[in-house]
Order: sequence, then structure tokens, then C-alpha cells
Amino acid sequence: MSAASTAVGDTYRPQLLERRAQLRAAAGSVSAGYLDELITEIDAALGKIGGGSYGLCETCHDPIEADRLEQNPLVRFCLDHLSQAELLAHQQDLDLATQIQSKLLPPADIALENWDTHYRYQPAGAVGGDYCELIVLGDGKSLFFAVGDVAGKGVAASLLMTHLSAIFRSLISLDLSLAEVVSRANRLFCEGTAPAHYATLVCGRATPNGVELCNAGHCPPLLLRRDGTERLDSTGLPLGLFCGGQYTVRRLSLGAGDSLVLYSDGITEAQDPLDTEFEEERLIRSLREHVEHGIGAMANGVLRQVNQFRQARPPGDDMTLLIVRRRG
Ligand SMILES: [Zn+2]
Repeated sequence: MSAASTAVGDTYRPQLLERRAQLRAAAGSVSAGYLDELITEIDAALGKIGGGSYGLCETCHDPIEADRLEQNPLVRFCLDHLSQAELLAHQQDLDLATQIQSKLLPPADIALENWDTHYRYQPAGAVGGDYCELIVLGDGKSLFFAVGDVAGKGVAASLLMTHLSAIFRSLISLDLSLAEVVSRANRLFCEGTAPAHYATLVCGRATPNGVELCNAGHCPPLLLRRDGTERLDSTGLPLGLFCGGQYTVRRLSLGAGDSLVLYSDGITEAQDPLDTEFEEERLIRSLREHVEHGIGAMANGVLRQVNQFRQARPPGDDMTLLIVRRRG
């Protein structure tokens, strides 16, 4: 008997009993055979709680992934030991999640009177926990941009990323200052998610007059000018940590050809086979090598160098790169 299993069982017992009561109450609306099948499944789970094997895979006896158990307290196998049919259904869910997420990405290469943009979004798995946003504002000459990184990985992180995206898209339609947008997004994200969930994020507005930038605990964006590179450090805490978080905005003036580069730590923390990280210094060098090129070529150059650096090592984290350049 496993102590961990007993604890998990104690968590789910009330929920399973409640389900059984609901099924009994709804007995008239489903066929007797189907009802029996469902009740048997619940009783089997309750039996396992009694026997101390609840939440353990029936094949390997290792604990079943906590997030899957949370979604469905009747799962019996870990991800490694799903049946062919379950595996297929799981793959179809992931494919659908990938499609849904790809529809949330901004259009490629938005170009305005004063600004060119380009982004790359490469999730490490089927879905990503990075947030990448570009929205043309009402005047048609300004844009909102953001790169964020939700704590955690996989489907759970991608759901939070979707939540963050919905929050920002609704706030952007209101006429608020950038600091107010971020403060409100923080409050909404904080109230709508568990305390362990947070996101780092850097966002800004590019208008014909210049750029406003707000960095909530995210890796510092880089401002590439012809004669040098400036790191723009964080000015606030990650979103979702403290509901009353305060955010300050800095103003930047970009000359013709200057580029603002936002990225996620999947790029700077990409590792080679000896666990050495790519780091900001290599990123800056790589960007500067392409400073005279178009922003698409600049992004290609960076991602090519990250891939070469990693060698055969698979990506450990999502990678996002977003470039906003002042037109010459
Ligand atoms: Zn297993």
C-alpha cells in the first residue's frame, strides 16, 4: 500500500462518491447498461482507494500524471501505458489543441507606416506556454506587442497562455494607458488562476512617436541601434504573483533601422550536449551579425545559430522571438 496513493485517494473519494450519487439520480435518462458500466467504473476506483492502489498505473504501478487524474479521476493508465485507442484519442486532442493555439498567433509580418514586425514561435512540444502577440491598434498606425512565458510546461501551460491572450485582447480594446493594461491584466490573471501559476511578460506599444515598454519580470528585451545594443531590464514582478502589483512604463525613441527584440528564455537557455547555455551574449552577437539585414533574415540567423549550438539536443523549452523595427 502506498502512502502517496492513499493521499491521492483521499482527495478524490468525495468527488467519486458525488459522481455516483449524481448518476443514480440521473438513472432515468441513460440506458440501464450504460449506467451499470459507469457505476462499475466508479466502484472500481473507490475499491482501489480502499486498497491503496488508486492513482497508480495498472500496467507499471507508477503514479498516473496528476493533471490527467485531475481532468478525469477514472483514468487507469499512465501516458506511457495507454491502449492504442486511448493513445489515438490523446493524439487527436493534442492535434486539436495545436490547431487552436496556432489560430491564436498573430498574423505574420505586420507592417505599418513606421514599423515592420516579424516573429517566430516554436513550441517545444505539441503546444506551447509562450505568449506572442501583435495587435494593430485603432489608429492603424500603432501596434501592441508582447512576449510572455507561462510557468510550467505542456497542455496546462498552454491553457494559461490562452487565458493570458484573452485577457490582453480584451484590455487592448479599452482606452487605457500601458501601465494600466498591465496592472489590470495582472489582477485578472491573479484572480483567475491558482497561486502557483504566474507568467513573465514584456509588452509595449509602438506609435508614430516612439515606443512604450513595460517588463513584468521577463528577460530583458534588446534595443539594437546602429552603434550599440541596450538591455532593457525588468520594471515589475511577473503577472499573477501579487494581485496589487505596480507596473512602470519606460519610453524609448527608436531611430530609422533600430530594432527592438523580445524573446523568451527558451532561446537564451537552449543547451548544447554539455549543458552549456546559449546565453544573452551569444544572442546579442547573433543579432548584431544580422543588423544590416531584413528582420526575417535576422530571426532566421538567430534560430539557425541556436539550432547549431544545441546540436542533436532536442529543445527543452518553447522559443519565441519577436522583432519590431523602425522603418528607415
Ligand atoms: Zn504505466
